[in-house]
Amino acid sequence: MVTTGEWKKTLPEPSWLTQPFWDATKQGKLKLQRCTTCGEYVWTPQMACRSCLTETLEWTEVSGRGSVYSFVVIHRAANPAYTAPYTIAVVDLEEGPRIFSDVIGIDPENVTIGLPVEVEFEDVGPVALYHFRPRR
Ligand SMILES: [Zn+2]
Repeated sequence: MVTTGEWKKTLPEPSWLTQPFWDATKQGKLKLQRCTTCGEYVWTPQMACRSCLTETLEWTEVSGRGSVYSFVVIHRAANPAYTAPYTIAVVDLEEGPRIFSDVIGIDPENVTIGLPVEVEFEDVGPVALYHFRPRR
């Protein structure tokens, strides 16, 4: 993790494996790997498909829409750059895979399982972060 400029929160460091994901977030797109052999989505980024073990993965744009599968409210931030309380969730994407994220734009006490959410991007310099917020 790196910290740059005025941004005090830790940032992801893209690797050769995750660079396509972070390139997509910079373009305002959410892309996941999808297996061209069996059609399964793969998240987090992998070298091979977890279902059929082939290496025929390609980066595919997904809708960015989903719903909260599970969540936790952080009441005491581990890093002073974060303002508690905030919500960390596992989001069920419409395409099937589950992705880990924060949930913004809603008071944590109002987050519920099944809450419809959509992705939003925040360009913080070296990378664009993704968040989920309630669907309008
Ligand atoms: Zn596969």
